[in-house]
Amino acid sequence: MKKKNLVFIGAPGAGKGTVAKALCAMSHLTHISTGDLLRAEIRAGSRLGKIAEGLIGSGKLLPDELISEIVSDRLVQSDCDRGFILDGFPRTIAQTRMLETMLARIGRNLDCAVYFEISDDLVLKRLTARLICRQCGAIYNKITTPPKAEGICDQCGGELYQRADDSPETIKSRLAVFYRENDPILEFYRKAGLLLTIPGECKDRCLQILNTELNR
Ligand code: AMP
Repeated sequence: MKKKNLVFIGAPGAGKGTVAKALCAMSHLTHISTGDLLRAEIRAGSRLGKIAEGLIGSGKLLPDELISEIVSDRLVQSDCDRGFILDGFPRTIAQTRMLETMLARIGRNLDCAVYFEISDDLVLKRLTARLICRQCGAIYNKITTPPKAEGICDQCGGELYQRADDSPETIKSRLAVFYRENDPILEFYRKAGLLLTIPGECKDRCLQILNTELNR
């Protein structure tokens, strides 16, 4: 992969996580999902987890400084040397600028900002039917990609669950936050010549486009 330091931007349910996992499995990039990092903190019952729990439950964002600090600590770990996909960060223009600063500090450049375009209808359909493995994080959809045995992960046998913030009400709040924050981020990366917009409807199509574009 020629372009290997990436951010994935898009509405909740646009396919960022699913495509990031598949791309990392075939390319050895490191997947950094800020949502997954926060859910791990909630499970661990840490102070950060307690702050995150309420905000995530109501579809709100964590403060920019707090989430940037988490990302900054994660980016200096050695598994990011081979390249990374930041999934779910940046989510505000302030985070976008903070990312620039932290990358400059560690002597790295972003190679591409991938924007997953998707309709609200599909987001609602996807998220209300989404199932996630508690153990390995694999993502299923009750309708389009169900597990072979109900409630059990095909890959590791772990228990599947529905995220509390994947309820129709919270999805609406998350989408409203997304629309409020997203345009300046896209503008920033467009101006920097880093923006790649792809249709988020189909995972295989996303992977096909990314395999071509990231190897240019
Ligand atoms: P995700 O798994 O990416 O959908 O993230 C789940 C939730 O975690 C979001 O709705 C936010 O509450 C929080 N979160 C994740 N990433 C960020 C971020 N970059 N900035 C602020 N909050 C975040």
